[in-house]
Amino acid sequence: MKIAIFGVGGFIGSNLVEHLVEEGVHEVVGMDVTNSKLAGIEGANFKYIEGNVGSDVTTAEELTEWADAVVDLIAYANPSIYVEAPLDVVQLNFFENMKILDYCLKYQTRLIQYSTSEVYGKRTRDEEYVEDSSDLVMGPVTKQRWIYAASKQLLERIIHGHGLRGDLDYSVIRPFNFVGPRFDYLVPAGAKGGPRVFSHFVSALITGGPIHLVDGGGQHRCFTHIKDASEAFSTILEHPAAHNQIFNIGNPDTNITMRGLAEMMGGIYTELTGKAPSNEIIEISGEDFYGKGYEDMDRVPPNVDKLRALGWTPKRDLDNIFREAIAFYLEPERHASIV
Ligand code: UDP
Repeated sequence: MKIAIFGVGGFIGSNLVEHLVEEGVHEVVGMDVTNSKLAGIEGANFKYIEGNVGSDVTTAEELTEWADAVVDLIAYANPSIYVEAPLDVVQLNFFENMKILDYCLKYQTRLIQYSTSEVYGKRTRDEEYVEDSSDLVMGPVTKQRWIYAASKQLLERIIHGHGLRGDLDYSVIRPFNFVGPRFDYLVPAGAKGGPRVFSHFVSALITGGPIHLVDGGGQHRCFTHIKDASEAFSTILEHPAAHNQIFNIGNPDTNITMRGLAEMMGGIYTELTGKAPSNEIIEISGEDFYGKGYEDMDRVPPNVDKLRALGWTPKRDLDNIFREAIAFYLEPERHASIV
């Protein structure tokens, strides 16, 4: 198959390309504004094009016409950005994605759209999130964190509408906290906001700076190994029953609190380096850490029965997920951003 990936230069895209290069089955062309995370990922079946979907319109359109399947990964995906720059989030995560959808409609190219587990929003019932039956519950407008989930939700609803009308072949993916090599970036000691929790904790372990537990650290997340996530993508790409469907990609068996995660990462860090961490633990409010307009989810539990029915299952546990990701960032050449 000929696959065009928009937003190929990020964490999910670079790992997906690595997986597709290893498989060596499909012809892949990826476009992004930067390729720094693609360093060292090379294969005869992969080509990178530098460009911005917003301004390099012709290239994006030509790529869509060329491809059998378009993968749309274009997004801001850090809670700090949702709070600080909500209009930038809606511009990129909704309007720019709509352009890709329009090209897919024009050329009748299959669309594999990455959405987010945040579309489920606030948990109102004690149950796992199921793609086609769970409610999607957003917080108030004044908590602008939800602009990210609201943008993705509307995009999903438009895509589904086209599926119903019969003019679009699509699959929507809702990722649940993927983690692995190249995840986000390191931050200096004591930094607030910015990247997501793994990056903050691993940065603190490396710099010796404080570990911030936002709102007490009792929130739960289920983490997913990026390799399990890339394998899930292949199942969705290739399985005949994956067309015009929405899929959670997650691992229900990796549920952990943020306080538990800090402890577990400290343990892995000690095993990998021989040094016991002595980070100060600071409890901080969500507003002080991210800014006004932040709101959190207490749990984000995936149900992945729909994808299991197509033959995929997550194979890597919490230790696997975090050991590999921590080891990646322990390499001194990756420390430029924290010195
Ligand atoms: N969090 C934390 N300390 C940090 C960064 C984040 O306790 O240094 C918390 C955050 O408030 C949230 C959870 O970790 O409850 C996961 O946040 P993340 O930004 O990784 O992603 P989310 O799953 O919320 O999109």
